[in-house]
Amino acid sequence: MITTILTIPTLLFLAAHAFRMGCSGGAVFWLTAGFLAIAPVPWKSWALAGLLGFGSWLWADVTFTLVQQRIAFGLPWVRLAAILGTVTLVCLAAAILNWRRARVSGWPGSSVQASAFLLTVTGLAIAREKTSLDIILLDRFFPSGGWIAIILLGWYAAWIAGKMLRPGNSAKWRRTIWTVFSAVFFLQLGLGLLGFERFLMTGSLHLPIPALIAAGPLYRGDGFFMIILFAVTLVLVGPAWCSHLCYIGAWDNLAAEGKKKPGALPGWTTTGRWLICLAVLATAILLGRSGQPLFTAVALAAVFGLLGIVIMLTWSRRSGIMTHCTTYCPMGLLANIFGKINPWRIRIDEKCCRCGICTRSCRYGALTVRDIEGGKAGLNCSLCGDCISGCPHGHLHYRFPGLGNEAARSCFIVVIVALHALFLGVARL
Ligand code: SF4
Ligand code: SF4
Ligand code: SF4
Repeated sequence: MITTILTIPTLLFLAAHAFRMGCSGGAVFWLTAGFLAIAPVPWKSWALAGLLGFGSWLWADVTFTLVQQRIAFGLPWVRLAAILGTVTLVCLAAAILNWRRARVSGWPGSSVQASAFLLTVTGLAIAREKTSLDIILLDRFFPSGGWIAIILLGWYAAWIAGKMLRPGNSAKWRRTIWTVFSAVFFLQLGLGLLGFERFLMTGSLHLPIPALIAAGPLYRGDGFFMIILFAVTLVLVGPAWCSHLCYIGAWDNLAAEGKKKPGALPGWTTTGRWLICLAVLATAILLGRSGQPLFTAVALAAVFGLLGIVIMLTWSRRSGIMTHCTTYCPMGLLANIFGKINPWRIRIDEKCCRCGICTRSCRYGALTVRDIEGGKAGLNCSLCGDCISGCPHGHLHYRFPGLGNEAARSCFIVVIVALHALFLGVARL
């Protein structure tokens, strides 16, 4: 009780301070965060401990700055330091009380949920503050709307992390949030095409074909935003772009799910994949160097994209494997190769009885007999995690250096869910 009594006024103080400093967005943020204090969610204490810890750092910074200013102008400063110092300590006390309450709360996943909340909120706040355009969609429609969106998306991330923590649920929820992301992406694109430019990130349209993430800059020699974004996700979550974050991959997943049990990829697909990837990148460079007009490049890209849809509707649907992503799209191969810089892996432990049941869970063709015998997922693995619940004996795990199996999986869920919420929150195209 004392924790809640201390927490609510502390958040109100932070809101009032932000408002007084002319930052109405910050005031909205702290007021919205106040709802967390009365919400019946098990992870709120961890989240409030984090927010109030940040709040006490803010108060300490304000105290230090104002005291220094007063000393510089030869003004009295002791009373001010005492008042603001007390406010800082009260905020810190509220953070510590919430942290103590969190440690005794029953649901073991609450720290994971709160981490997803805090990571999402932090990521979106940095993205909002560091970019010149209104990157949070709601900011384009309501003044300070972005701050409300940030808290709500943090809340959403915590909810999804809670769902995905239960191994039996994670495959279903992964596919659901991936499909939702793709649907929101294309809804936004559709609205942009209808003339509502505010739904587009820069106000201009681009072809939504993943191959262009690499081929576009090679052709133009500029426009590196998407390739940098892609590279950042490789560093953070390896190839998981291709199982959680790509707007087109979700379609291939839906197409492959048309068949209940995935088949096997022909042996030549690995070579074919390399050839397609090299051909796409070489074509982009040649088109750019030879000064071919944009129309030619766009027409070729559109044909490539349409062919990809035909592959999904035919081959993926018939085979049950995501053949578009595992044989055709160059970004899939680049994600698999360069994703190795990230240490998260899927490993099969030594107690595996080679029953092969987990193969049925993998739509990427990354659990062949050879892979299982080798004790690890194949090159195509996108870290989707579906096979973890697919092994009835519990011999498949996420691995990360220095972490146990459960901790590795929890950390992966925190990062990937926060990235998903972040991608949902920003104006995308
Ligand atoms: S392989 Fe290509 S289309 Fe498939 S998920 Fe990856 S980037 Fe997207
Ligand atoms: S289902 Fe489990 S035990 Fe069977 S092959 Fe896969 S990892 Fe091994
Ligand atoms: S091996 Fe497991 S984690 Fe990797 S793609 Fe296949 S199902 Fe997903």
